Amino acid sequence: MEREEYLAAIKPRMPEKRYIHTIGVMETAIALAKVFGENEKNAEIAAILHDIAKYADIAWMEKIVRDEKLDHRLIGWGSELLHGPVGAYIAEHEFGIVEEDILNAIRFHTTGRVGMSRLEKILFVADMIEPNRKFNGVERLRKKAQKNLDKAVSACVRHTLAFLIDTKQPIYPLSIDCYNDLMKRED
Ligand code: GDP
Ligand code: FE
Ligand code: FE
Ligand code: FE
Repeated sequence: MEREEYLAAIKPRMPEKRYIHTIGVMETAIALAKVFGENEKNAEIAAILHDIAKYADIAWMEKIVRDEKLDHRLIGWGSELLHGPVGAYIAEHEFGIVEEDILNAIRFHTTGRVGMSRLEKILFVADMIEPNRKFNGVERLRKKAQKNLDKAVSACVRHTLAFLIDTKQPIYPLSIDCYNDLMKRED
């Protein structure tokens, strides 16, 4: 499928604002793929599909988790944590994506995980720094992403966890595993 077909397929499944965010993630992910020598087409597809499940019905997503035997800890966390793993399911079963790297990039784009691939890192960072994102410190993350992908991932994870703690939100185990792994490697 070509870019325009993917975009036409996702557009009716999300509000305009989310679609604009997705275009921003796509452009950012392709740019990062160029900088860090990743497959640009894979970055494009992963980015276009990454939030496809964001507005899916929660009961339906929880049914997918049960039927497909996804991580049972996802039950009860709501759309924010479900839409990555269920997005990967939709990418595979509805769009016929077979590349495990693309599916993993979608699956783990919210939490990150231990041992992310280069494509997973690119989508994770692009999601956070795309041009429509506006939060304190985003400019610093954008600069970091041009220089060092691993350091950018680490900074994005720390930013998200600090925000979750500040706003008294629970932290999903995979997010903590990802953080611990990054901090063990940090020099
Ligand atoms: P988006 O889908 O483009 O808005 O971005 P993400 O998929 O990266 O994140 C979706 C939401 O999940 C954001 O509001 C994050 O702050 C939130 N989030 C990320 N990790 C966790 C976590 O471990 N626990 C909770 N409760 N929320 C998280
Ligand atoms: Fe998302
Ligand atoms: Fe993200
Ligand atoms: Fe997103």
